Amino acid sequence: MAQRIAIIGTGPTGIYTLRHLIDHPDPLSIWLFERGEKAGIGMPYSPETSSKAMLANIASIEIPPLVGPYLDWLEGQPDARLRDYGLDPEDLDARQFTPRLLLGEYFRDQLLELIDRARATGHEVEVMESTEVTDLQPDGSGIGILTANGPVDTIFDRVILATGHVFPDEEEATRSWFPSPWSGLIDAEIPACRVGIMGTSLSSIDAAMAVVNQHGRFWHKGEDLIFTSTSDGLSVTLMSWTGVLPEADFYCPIPYEPLKVMTEAALDTLKTEGARLDDVFALFAREIAEADPAWAAGINLAKLDADSFPDAYFAAREASDPFRWARENLREVEGNKAARITIPWRYAILRMHEQIEDLVPEFSEEDRARFDKGLKNLFVDNYAAVPSESIRRLLALREAGILKILPLGEDYDLRREGPKTVIKAKGETWTFDTFIDARGQKPLSTKDLPFPTLRNALLQADQEIPQVDEDYALLNCADFASRIWLGSIPWLMHDRPFVQGITACAEIGVVIARDIREVAVRKMKRPRRYCQAR
Ligand SMILES: Cc1cc2nc3c(=O)[nH]c(=O)nc-3n(C[C@H](O)[C@H](O)[C@H](O)COP(=O)(O)OP(=O)(O)OC[C@H]3O[C@@H](n4cnc5c(N)ncnc54)[C@H](O)[C@@H]3O)c2cc1C
Repeated sequence: MAQRIAIIGTGPTGIYTLRHLIDHPDPLSIWLFERGEKAGIGMPYSPETSSKAMLANIASIEIPPLVGPYLDWLEGQPDARLRDYGLDPEDLDARQFTPRLLLGEYFRDQLLELIDRARATGHEVEVMESTEVTDLQPDGSGIGILTANGPVDTIFDRVILATGHVFPDEEEATRSWFPSPWSGLIDAEIPACRVGIMGTSLSSIDAAMAVVNQHGRFWHKGEDLIFTSTSDGLSVTLMSWTGVLPEADFYCPIPYEPLKVMTEAALDTLKTEGARLDDVFALFAREIAEADPAWAAGINLAKLDADSFPDAYFAAREASDPFRWARENLREVEGNKAARITIPWRYAILRMHEQIEDLVPEFSEEDRARFDKGLKNLFVDNYAAVPSESIRRLLALREAGILKILPLGEDYDLRREGPKTVIKAKGETWTFDTFIDARGQKPLSTKDLPFPTLRNALLQADQEIPQVDEDYALLNCADFASRIWLGSIPWLMHDRPFVQGITACAEIGVVIARDIREVAVRKMKRPRRYCQAR
């Protein structure tokens, strides 16, 4: 009988897993569960959480292939559809950033093609849309699934959790307080008032777009982007500890060129020696010094360590007016894109973040704390660079007198006073009529798992954070053993701090599908160090 496999969640992680499962030589019976009305879109790319103004920060050239490249799909779309999303059909290219909603439509179409392909090669595929899985229960020879619509009449051999992002519920939101930009903000009417947004990154820019597009419009005047307001009294304040804005996405060769110093062999040596942050930083510094000696000398790299380098990296930006910095950075990256110029130090940092992520679980607690406080932030700053168009929009809002940036420092006080939110920082007080917390996905622990039987089993096994092996199979949970794979991002983030992103989803999908293929001959595997309960 065919193995019965359930994939819970059909965002990018679920789709990439399916893509690789169907290469299985034996026929499988694959069930896809999706709580949304349509399978295959994923949280950031769905109409419930995104609008046409919200851009993806990944381009076709970076999206791992499913059935066909995103660019081919775009080129196959009717002109009117592309224009409706603000794209010029004559001007599509592999490095272009498009609205997230369009990317969601691509993923959905790719899923439908994959399902056809799977069926044509002998697999059975059941698609359960509008079906929220509410629990998983061990049942003799497999796993039973409960859904909000009732129990499923099949027992599964393997279950893959690909449930993705979890943000606070809409119920926690009020008309003036949004615990995340995805808690009803997209459909909410926000009056022209004093709007505060906690965070200055991609999600915060999304939140600002959700508000300002209700009170005006962006338009191009030659090379410039202008925002014309149709309401009086709107102000939007983005805030964070430092008030630093993200930089614009930069040109670099893709696929990535190999690193010269931080090679797999060098990292393997560090791993066997016990992965100390200072040794990792030594490799990091040598890689940058070789790639870009002038920049290394300018920042005084030879005198810096893992703790002082991040401060030096951000120092000039923190000291500068954020909009002046953004304008200059935009000019630089656009010039480099046009001339295909790679800034070597930026490219070196970009390629190193993935290499270093593998070592993070091996760090001592002290090194992990140092990493989280310092180097982690600069890696995120580097890879989470935003589309140039997002920076143009921020600059246009600034020119229109709507946008402010507020550096709070670490020691600030935030209070909700009735419908208002009051922030005290650096001896000053700011009052906001509407407040949006846009700080992004937080890592979650076992107690947050939405499947009670599995959650209780893990808690009884003293797993504060679910333990997974390097192939994402859940470990040490007796009745579920060898049956559950955990690809749900918020539970992986503790030890894979950079796990978000479509490329990470693709990697998870490849590994889980491969492991399921090999599970019959599974050897005892060494758990990752992070699996030790903290
Ligand atoms: C606002 C935002 C913007 C982003 N933009 C980008 C970007 O531009 N580029 C990039 O590379 N990365 C981006 N990311 C990172 C993001 O992590 C990935 O792109 C990707 O969406 C993760 O895919 P996923 O399948 O793991 O999770 P999700 O996309 O969250 O999909 C999970 C799916 O599971 C379903 N589901 C959840 N629970 C259940 C259940 N119990 N039963 C049934 N179905 C369930 C959900 O409905 C959803 O369809 C963004 C993240 C956010 C939050």
